[in-house]
Amino acid sequence: MSDTTLKGQCLCGAVTVEIEPAQQVLGACHCAMCRKWTSGPLMAVHTTQPIRAEGPVKTYASSQWAERAFCPECGSSLWYAFTAEGAHKGHCFVSAGLFEGTRDLPLSSEVYIDSKPGGYAFAGDHVRLTEAQMMAAAADGMSMGSTGSEGEQQ
Ligand SMILES: [Zn+2]
Ligand SMILES: [Zn+2]
Repeated sequence: MSDTTLKGQCLCGAVTVEIEPAQQVLGACHCAMCRKWTSGPLMAVHTTQPIRAEGPVKTYASSQWAERAFCPECGSSLWYAFTAEGAHKGHCFVSAGLFEGTRDLPLSSEVYIDSKPGGYAFAGDHVRLTEAQMMAAAADGMSMGSTGSEGEQQ
């Protein structure tokens, strides 16, 4: 456990989660699946380290390359994890709302900006990528959490 460890829990408290964030920033995803999952953008913290979770976590394979974890007691969205073999396997985007410690983190990126509903928008000058730009970045080995940098640091 380090200074930057984030500790949090789901709405009902049945699941506790501890992570080591890759960066002290938030990312937002506006894709249709995240919006169905959360009713808004998924606000997440990126981690490349294993998540330490306790409690009755359930996972749902939302695509061939990723799964989404949630609490079966209260339904809180916990994290999105890459499951496919490759450089991103095990990398996770963990729901920022689980952690008190994310309240003051800056928003560094929005992805699937072209899927964002028109009724709201985040202020600020940060990276905004469309789906096509995301796909191009993914093909380059970059990830949502490190967009704008020189790619993945392994
Ligand atoms: Zn819960
Ligand atoms: Zn998404």
